[in-house]
Amino acid sequence: MNEKTAPRKVEKLLAVKGMNDILPPDSARWEALEERVRKLMQRFAYENVRTPIVEPTALFVRGLGEVTDIVEKEMYSFDDRLNGEALTLRPENTAGVVRAAIEHTLLYNGGKRLYYMGPMFRHERPQRGRYRQFHQIGAEALGFCGGEIDAELILMAHALWQELGLTDVELQINSLGQPEERNLHRAALIQHFEAQHDLLDEEAKRRLHLNPLRLLDSKNPAMQPLIEAAPRLLDFLGDASKRHLQAVTDVLDANGVAYSVNPRLVRGMDYYNLTVFEFVTTKLGSQGTICAGGRYDYLFEQVGGKPTPAVGWAIGMERVLELLKELGGADAAPALDAYAIVPDAASLPAAMACLQTLRAQGTSVLMHASAAEGMASMKSQFKRADASGARYALIFGADEMAQGLVTVKALRDAGIAQQTRALPEAAQWGKSLQSNA
Ligand code: ATP
Ligand code: MG
Repeated sequence: MNEKTAPRKVEKLLAVKGMNDILPPDSARWEALEERVRKLMQRFAYENVRTPIVEPTALFVRGLGEVTDIVEKEMYSFDDRLNGEALTLRPENTAGVVRAAIEHTLLYNGGKRLYYMGPMFRHERPQRGRYRQFHQIGAEALGFCGGEIDAELILMAHALWQELGLTDVELQINSLGQPEERNLHRAALIQHFEAQHDLLDEEAKRRLHLNPLRLLDSKNPAMQPLIEAAPRLLDFLGDASKRHLQAVTDVLDANGVAYSVNPRLVRGMDYYNLTVFEFVTTKLGSQGTICAGGRYDYLFEQVGGKPTPAVGWAIGMERVLELLKELGGADAAPALDAYAIVPDAASLPAAMACLQTLRAQGTSVLMHASAAEGMASMKSQFKRADASGARYALIFGADEMAQGLVTVKALRDAGIAQQTRALPEAAQWGKSLQSNA
C-alpha cells in the first residue's frame, strides 16, 4: 500500500459518560419489559403519549422549582445555536406531559389517563442504578381529584411488580398536605433547624430559608439525626388532607396491598401536594427507589394552564431490570425458529422468497450471510446454525430446489426425522416450525 491508501489510525469514539448502549441480548429484556407495560396500561385504560425529548428550559424551572437538585445542578441545558432559544433535555416527563395537555386542550372533555416510556437526562454522578441518560415508564392521571385515582396508580405499579415476580418491594406513602398546611410546617421546620444551625451542612444552610422541606430529602448521613427529630408535616394536616390520605389507604387495605406511612418521605420536585409515595427495595443498595410519584394539583397553573388536579408516578427502568437480574429472572431472548442455509448464490432469490412466506406467518428465520465474498461452506453454515440456537435448519440445496423442495432438519431434537418440504407449500408447513405454535 502506498502512503495515500494506507488506513490512518483514527481515535476511537466512546459513548458519553453515564450514557449506556443497550445491546443484545440485554435489549431483549428491555423489550420484554416494555411489552408487559403496554399490556398493563391497556388493561388499566391508560393511553400512550409521546412528547419531545427537548423542552424549553423554563418549563422545568417553573414546573420543578428553582431550589431542587434537578434544576440547580442536574439539567442538560443549552442555547439553540441558530435562534438562541434556551432548551433542556428533559430530566423527567411530568412537566412535558402537562405542557402537552394544556397546549392541545387534551382535557376539554374530562380527565385523561396517559403513559409514556423513554429516556430522561440528568447530570449526576454515574453509579449503579444512577445514570446520566436513564429511562422511565411514567403514568399520569390528569383531571381527577379523588384519592381513589392515587390508589389506582399505586395498584397499577403493584400489579406490575406481581407480574414481574418482584417480591422484595415495599410501598411507603405520605401526605404533603396543601400549601397552607405546608406553610405552618415550614415555619416550624425553620425554627427547628435554626436552633441547630451549627449542625447543618452547607447545602442545608443555603436551602433553609429557600425551601426547608428539601432539607428532609438530604442524603448526608450527618444530617439524619436532625432530620429524624424535625417536626412532622403529618401533624400539621387538616381534616380534608387527612381524609384524602384515608381514601387512598382504604383502597390499598381492601386490595391487601401492604404499605407503611413514612412521615419523612418528601419528593425531589416542588410540584407535589397531598399523596406522595415510593416503592423501595433493599436489593439495590442506596439506589433502591424503583418507582416514585404523587399528586401535583398545582403544576398546571405553574406552567400556565387552568387549575387541574393530577397525579402520577415514574418507574426507573434500569433499576427494575437490575432488580430482575438480581432475582435471577429468566432471560427474555426470544427463541429462533429456523436458520436458513443456502450453499449457492444462485439459490438465494428463490430461497429468500420462501423465507418471506414463512416470516409473514410468524416464523422467525435467520438467513446465513457471509462476511467475505462468495458463499460460506456448508460446514461453516451448519456451525452457525447450531450456534444460533434455532430449532430447525432449512437447507436450500441446489438439487432439491430444482425439484421445488427444501430440507428441514431439527437441530435440538434428535427424535425428529429430517424431512423435505415443498417450497410452494411453505404457507402450510411453516407454522409447524414455530416454537409458540
Ligand atoms: P433519587 O432520590 O434516587 O435521586 P429522584 O427522586 O431524583 O430519585 P424521580 O425524579 O422521582 O427520582 O424519578 C423517578 C424514578 O426514576 C426514581 O425512583 C428512579 O427509579 C429513577 N431515576 C431517577 N434518577 C435516575 C438516574 N439518574 N438513573 C437511573 N434511574 C433514575
Ligand atoms: Mg435524583
